Amino acid sequence: MTDNAPRWTRSQVEGLFAKPFMDLIFDAQQVHRAHFKPNQVQVSTLLSIKTGACPEDCKYCPQSARYDTGLEKERLMEVEKVLEAAKRAKDIGSTRFCMGAAWRNPKDRDMPYIIKMIEGVRELGMETCMTLGMLTREQAMVLKQAGLDYYNHNLDTSESYYEQIITTRTYADRINTLDNVRGAGMKVCSGGIVGMGEEAQDRVGLLLALANLEQPPESVPINMLVKVPGTPMADVEDLDPFDFIRCIAVARILMPNSHVRLSAGREAMNEQMQALCFMAGANSIFYGEKLLTTGNPDAERDQLLFARLGIEPEAVAGYDDEVHTAVAMEAVAASQQSAEPELFYPAKHTTNTSVKRAS
Ligand code: SF4
Repeated sequence: MTDNAPRWTRSQVEGLFAKPFMDLIFDAQQVHRAHFKPNQVQVSTLLSIKTGACPEDCKYCPQSARYDTGLEKERLMEVEKVLEAAKRAKDIGSTRFCMGAAWRNPKDRDMPYIIKMIEGVRELGMETCMTLGMLTREQAMVLKQAGLDYYNHNLDTSESYYEQIITTRTYADRINTLDNVRGAGMKVCSGGIVGMGEEAQDRVGLLLALANLEQPPESVPINMLVKVPGTPMADVEDLDPFDFIRCIAVARILMPNSHVRLSAGREAMNEQMQALCFMAGANSIFYGEKLLTTGNPDAERDQLLFARLGIEPEAVAGYDDEVHTAVAMEAVAASQQSAEPELFYPAKHTTNTSVKRAS
């Protein structure tokens, strides 16, 4: 492969999607184990710091001012309130705090508040992530200097399906923002949404584009569309859950060093499906605060699921790992104690005698 050659070809990615389901999951799990601790999941909390009234026309998004979704719009949150939420997220074991604003792009007048938020969250010992829309090179530099670790900007879908979803900014605009984020030295969080009525080839195209970025994103959120009444996507046909899990597995294989995040849409997934997603290589979730404007399972339910599966929250390199892990484990232990005994059993000491293992 020359320096400019793409890492993956379309036919390779199509080949992965075409594999029998079990083979694909097995391969993805092997890649996962070669690059990550298999029973650790990174835990982030996402807070909407400015909600609604967005001028963009993303057809899946209840925050667009163009759709009547009944969403209450809010101004930019006060710095103090954001930091209170970050503290709460840390107390329940979250190691990264993601702040999202429904903007086309941040304005100069917003930047001093944004900078204070980044600095304050870092002082709590958490990783920081923001999603604020398109960024110029200069804005990216300012955010980096304030200490922002990650910037989220999704490709959303394939380049060929993109115009069916958004018309107010181009695919090239998105790539340009990702370049500015990289150029400033921040880590990139970029993924997409599936279940928006796209063809299988669009899921191929999305993952191919992400994996062939000059440097793949460190964090790859794979979202299942949350169909919000009032948006143009409200009645789109459901995606087969196995096709969603395939996306996770293919993302894991294409981007072996990236955290693949099971993101929006998780509330609609039962625990068995979430476990299959972890098996397919997902190793990051959002929990705690509301996931932007759509629901997210309660932190306590997630902690219970982690305990039942023997999963531990991943600590953050460069921060006080021991303290973080201790907080997270305490939260898990507390939720175990409060759980109904007949509803709860730790995965390592199963008492479910109806499940007999083949030996
Ligand atoms: S996805 Fe972001 S840019 Fe698009 S409408 Fe929603 S808030 Fe605006």
